[in-house]
Amino acid sequence: MKAVVFEDVGVPGIHDRAVPSYGADEVLVEVAATGICGTDRAILLGEFPARRGVVLGHEAAGAVAAVGSGVASVAPGDRVVINPTYHCDRCRPCRRGMPAHCGAKAGREVGVDRDGTMAGFAVVPERFVHRLPASVSYRRGALVEPLACVLNNLAAARPRWDDRVLVVGAGPIGALCALVLARRGARVTLAERDPGRVALARLLLPGTVRVLPAEEAAGAGPPDVAIDTTGTLPGDVLGAVAAGGTVVVMGERESGVATVPLRALVTRGVRLVGAGPYRPADFALAVDLARELPLESLVTHVLPLERCAEALALLALAPAAGYGAMKVLLAGDGGLAP
Ligand SMILES: [Zn+2]
Ligand SMILES: [Zn+2]
Repeated sequence: MKAVVFEDVGVPGIHDRAVPSYGADEVLVEVAATGICGTDRAILLGEFPARRGVVLGHEAAGAVAAVGSGVASVAPGDRVVINPTYHCDRCRPCRRGMPAHCGAKAGREVGVDRDGTMAGFAVVPERFVHRLPASVSYRRGALVEPLACVLNNLAAARPRWDDRVLVVGAGPIGALCALVLARRGARVTLAERDPGRVALARLLLPGTVRVLPAEEAAGAGPPDVAIDTTGTLPGDVLGAVAAGGTVVVMGERESGVATVPLRALVTRGVRLVGAGPYRPADFALAVDLARELPLESLVTHVLPLERCAEALALLALAPAAGYGAMKVLLAGDGGLAP
């Protein structure tokens, strides 16, 4: 099978690998579609530590190719989506109801230190394989994982019906936030610095989402909730949010450091929160919501695995290159079946 391998900073290699073997409680999934995520990009830019030689990728849908002797919940041919946030259920964070912050993650992070989904096949423990509803295409299913991240972070904002919501950054995660918020009728403004992404977001998102260049967003009035997906927390966001409002920091990067005006938190009662990765319940909810959310409307490109260098270039692997795409998927060896 073909696999996209992290060789070194800046170097994604296309390797021929043997189809991996699987254990009694594991499922071999033939990957149909796998999304390129900010994390994959950060790994290749040297901004996120990963094991040299690992197969990249963690957002994937595909078909069960084979199952271990102890697997009962899925069978060969089943269409599935992979939950790549593995947890042990035994450590203190897991026992305290925070499996997303499992203390035994080392060696289990899919596409980081354990082989990921940018390959013809991926091996997944049975309990992290979810059946895809019949109406959900692989193209849509590949966005279930980022949707789960978005649901967890939106929930952390504890939104109310009459909130004005500002989403900062119109990358795939910001656009997904806007798509979900628009679906529930929220008044949402999406602010973005890159003119190419402003144009793309206007084209791809429902007309009810207001997409503005970053410098014009202040004119939209003070938001009650701001979701920062850029990993930079622009300095004006905290000051702009309404009294009693909430700022959720969703994007993160190694170099991400912000100066926080403490007066905004204290005198205006602003909450600054980080939610991190999703819980298993968010993933199950994302699978369910995928029935009705047109997630694939954010997919601008589908390329075969061997063209991953081109796919990454679309996502501005060279930081100054600008963005030519929204969500980019890689299709597995068998092409992108429905
Ligand atoms: Zn991701
Ligand atoms: Zn754990």
